[in-house]
Amino acid sequence: MEKANKGENIMKPIIAMTTYNSKRDENTVSSLNMNYSNAILKNGGIPLLLPIVENCMEEYIDNLLCNVDGVLFSGGADVSPIEYNEEPVRELGSCSIERDKFEILLYKKAFERKIPILGICRGLQVINVAAGGTLYQDIYTQKPTNKQHNQKQPWPDKTHKVNICADSKLYNILEEESVMTNSFHHQAAKDIADGFYVSAKAEDDIVEAIEYSSDQFVLGVQWHPEGMFEKHHEFSKLFKAFIKESELYKNKER
Ligand code: MN
Repeated sequence: MEKANKGENIMKPIIAMTTYNSKRDENTVSSLNMNYSNAILKNGGIPLLLPIVENCMEEYIDNLLCNVDGVLFSGGADVSPIEYNEEPVRELGSCSIERDKFEILLYKKAFERKIPILGICRGLQVINVAAGGTLYQDIYTQKPTNKQHNQKQPWPDKTHKVNICADSKLYNILEEESVMTNSFHHQAAKDIADGFYVSAKAEDDIVEAIEYSSDQFVLGVQWHPEGMFEKHHEFSKLFKAFIKESELYKNKER
């Protein structure tokens, strides 16, 4: 009986999550807001933080992906427009070329293996760029809107409405035609990568979710459900659906 329980406890899918580098004294530290780990843990998965690797990146990613069941692309700094062949506009925020390169390769290899992928905020943008799409480097100057997409209120607070396309993965998960979300971004998806479609938009047409147009689970949301789910339980559904897909992937023969 004890053995069976042990077996059950190690059946949970491992969700790899991207991090960012910060400086502490003379050291570089791999960092990620705990909200992400809590969202994975509390919704049935095992979180695993990935450092940004520069040396032997390909070997690192290939070995890593043999051992994980889902990949979450987390939020963070702007994606460098160099990655989609544009020069920076004045309003571009800080970028990390190392992080971009690492995450783009990670995305391509995870996609190839059909590992379930969830992108959050910058994560949606990385997915779109890695798959061949482009971004608004700064929505306020490049796609003027009077909506607040970079809220000053706390993370769990709802700011704007997001309209969800019927028949999308997102609709099937949240079971709502619209939801109120938080919003902490000044960039957004512009040209959508081939094979993807926009499954949710804000009232001002800013892209708030993209997904891959087949059964393969690749979904990006522009808001931060990991900062909302403890107060607004409906957003747990997003993590549960992703972790369920990761569990199916884990149990598939490969
Ligand atoms: Mn928004």
